[in-house]
Amino acid sequence: MIDYLLEVNHLKTYFYGSEKQEIPAVDDVSFQVKQGETLCIVGESGCGKSVTTLSVMKLVQTPPGRYVSGEILFEGRNLLEMNQKEMRNLRCKEISMIFQEPMTALNPVHKIGAQIAEALIINEEIDKKAAHQRAVELLRMVGVPDPVRCADSYPHQLSGGMRQRAMIAMAFSCNPNLLLADEPTTALDVTVQAQILDLIQTLKEQRGMTVVFVTHDLGIVAEIADRVIVMYAGRVVEEAACEQLFASPLHPYTRGLLRCIPRIDDTREILETIEGQVPTPADFPRGCRFHPRCPKAMEICKSVMPEPVDMGNHLVSCHLYPGCGDAAGNSREV
Ligand code: ADP
Ligand code: MG
Repeated sequence: MIDYLLEVNHLKTYFYGSEKQEIPAVDDVSFQVKQGETLCIVGESGCGKSVTTLSVMKLVQTPPGRYVSGEILFEGRNLLEMNQKEMRNLRCKEISMIFQEPMTALNPVHKIGAQIAEALIINEEIDKKAAHQRAVELLRMVGVPDPVRCADSYPHQLSGGMRQRAMIAMAFSCNPNLLLADEPTTALDVTVQAQILDLIQTLKEQRGMTVVFVTHDLGIVAEIADRVIVMYAGRVVEEAACEQLFASPLHPYTRGLLRCIPRIDDTREILETIEGQVPTPADFPRGCRFHPRCPKAMEICKSVMPEPVDMGNHLVSCHLYPGCGDAAGNSREV
């Protein structure tokens, strides 16, 4: 049996709107991550990627959110059964998160150095002066050119790239074993994006850290992922090793995403897109949630939700593949 650092089993994180409306933002999601591995979560906006990672941090606001069922095992312990105090002990020291928008994590009224130092004082029991010095060191480590000045600045005085570096310094301050990065480079321009990706890769290699990286950018996935899960409308539609996913994508949604990437040998005049939009969780269609946009949709897709089948360490949830919920088990042209 393989020991996973993180194991998410059948997680359902729902929101409850007015009039008891049920919003299944994360709906029966399972995945596993081994120590030292990088797992990428991809999918268009609104597919449940952030709610999945926030669930692992147990930072979903409850209410309106609720962890309806499933388990999140970190080193074998179910985070969903831990109380707030136990979670506070894990956050930062064991599990840390980089958010898409640094301002959600940085406090606008405190200087950067003081914010990083505070995390160190709480978690490492070192005094204020030593913590401040460490904060400056961390800022230097993440490539801030003038770390002393940065530590003495408020978040709004820094550029987007510097703020993101400051947040990475904060995420790394307690040397976490698991790093969750939720689209950490989306708000940055491409050169800064490349620097931040390099930085995360270097730190990961130096510390043997495990990374769950959320992105909608398949270029980034190709660069950093060991394994990939593709999410659509709150569910995992495909999961495979990175090379396998790019070499032989199985799900029509994954194939659609891959066709949207420009290639060097492209002869296409215009880039393809996937027609339509991700439905909102309040009105997900019956059956396969992708069927209204799917070029391969069949009758069964309109009524029966496909279940994952294993095609050889490669999971796919789609009726094109026998075993995904077709009672007759017929194989079909793919
Ligand atoms: P992604 O990160 O893939 O873009 P999210 O995980 O942020 O998607 O959101 C998944 C779905 O959950 C979206 O449809 C979003 O509107 C819904 N959602 C997220 N947070 C809340 C909330 N606090 N209340 C209601 N719905 C929410
Ligand atoms: Mg998101």
